[in-house]
Amino acid sequence: MAWDFETDPQYQEQLDWADEFVRSEVEPLDLIWPHEQFTPLDGTRRKAVEPLKEQVRQRGLWATHLGPELGGQGHGQLKLALLNEILGRSSWAPVVFGCQAPDTGNAEIIAHFGTATQKERYLRPLLDGEIFSSYSMTEPQAGADPSRFETRATRDGDGWVVNGWKYFSSNAATSSFLIVMAVTDPDVSVYKGMSMFLVPSDTPGIEIVRNVGLYGEPMNGGSHALIRYHDVRVPDDDLLGGAGQAFAIAQTRLGGGRIHHAMRTIGLAQKALDMMCERALSRVTAGSALSDKQFVQGYIADSYAQLTQFRLLVLYTAWEIDKYQDYQRVRKDIATVKVVMPTVLHDIAWRAMQVHGALGVTNEMPFLTMIHGAGVMGLADGPTEVHKMTVAKQVLRDHTPTDDMWPTQWIPRLAADAREKYAEFLEHEVGNR
Ligand SMILES: Cc1cc2nc3c(=O)[nH]c(=O)nc-3n(C[C@H](O)[C@H](O)[C@H](O)COP(=O)(O)OP(=O)(O)OC[C@H]3O[C@@H](n4cnc5c(N)ncnc54)[C@H](O)[C@@H]3O)c2cc1C
Repeated sequence: MAWDFETDPQYQEQLDWADEFVRSEVEPLDLIWPHEQFTPLDGTRRKAVEPLKEQVRQRGLWATHLGPELGGQGHGQLKLALLNEILGRSSWAPVVFGCQAPDTGNAEIIAHFGTATQKERYLRPLLDGEIFSSYSMTEPQAGADPSRFETRATRDGDGWVVNGWKYFSSNAATSSFLIVMAVTDPDVSVYKGMSMFLVPSDTPGIEIVRNVGLYGEPMNGGSHALIRYHDVRVPDDDLLGGAGQAFAIAQTRLGGGRIHHAMRTIGLAQKALDMMCERALSRVTAGSALSDKQFVQGYIADSYAQLTQFRLLVLYTAWEIDKYQDYQRVRKDIATVKVVMPTVLHDIAWRAMQVHGALGVTNEMPFLTMIHGAGVMGLADGPTEVHKMTVAKQVLRDHTPTDDMWPTQWIPRLAADAREKYAEFLEHEVGNR
């Protein structure tokens, strides 16, 4: 019997250590440097953050998703899921543990498809936590529909020249390099005609036109760049994988990225549920604690049920990725996780906010940030609607149409077949009456 929902005791000890460490050492960073986690460390922050990273390394929990040859532990996705549930509570924690988005996905594709020189130049410092990276795929006129991508890379001597617009390239302004997707062969479908390039962020011709901010952030003070690539020269050596391979590579990147967001979302939703329960037990109104009111009990029960279903789905999907080592094969469940994630976080954070009354909607509590985060989860790495279509197509693949006028489960015919199958017993039964 191979099904097992227990964590082995040695790893549980590691998780217990991480839980305490994140609460006491890392969550305070969220309050003193709330938007600095993707900015390379300066003198003061380095003094505070570097010793924390060192403790994580000593503990063997640095970049656990990558193999030992890349400086990770090779723990795989399931163990990463259990760890990420803890890290999801804090915006700094993934950086302190060397497993932050978008760098995890970016590191993964360089690890899979990069040459030895590319790994040395880009992957090594990325894994050491010294630099950040940005993934530059979405374009202003085209996000969910890649067939509308226009950024072009044209051949020029022993390299390429990139021209075009990119939008929502997260952390581009603080990155050391960008992974840029561009059309290299306009005569074939984008699925075969786009390529990926590793481009140092200071390459001449890269213009960050605006750093788009999310709701609540100051204008031009955000971290999602609108970029204009003007005649950006890229040598052949910086082509990632082969020409025309961008989509195959993107599937690896986005598969990992989506499930990692989901792992962290479990932690965030659990935090909201914990806050809801604390408030329900503490606040007395109309003669009893909120936890005695049936409406509030309903909020708690619904939240627990939603979170537990989601968590099991995420852990199962992580287990599948480890087992098959093939994101394509696990595509249906990764897309399902992506579809469910925004609703779970939204619903639980909303109920927690409601139970906190007026305090819940203030900037002194994190609920509206979480609800906004749920909206982001419904768009980043592809909109929910598109993932629902993927789920449906994959589910339908396991089914076939019937030529018959009636469905195969039409009861009158099934009953007639059943009567015929057991006719001798029925005759006997009638005879005995
Ligand atoms: C916080 C954040 C960070 C991001 N980071 C990055 C990044 O680092 N790099 C990067 O390249 N991109 C990034 N993105 C962009 C993200 O991948 C795109 O927003 C996403 O792919 C959707 O593209 P779009 O915004 O152009 O929406 P559109 O493609 O215009 O879609 C808009 C809406 O139309 C509907 N829709 C779209 N297609 C369909 C369809 N086929 N069927 C039915 N309905 C549909 C959906 O409701 C969808 O939300 C980020 C986005 C966010 C919000």
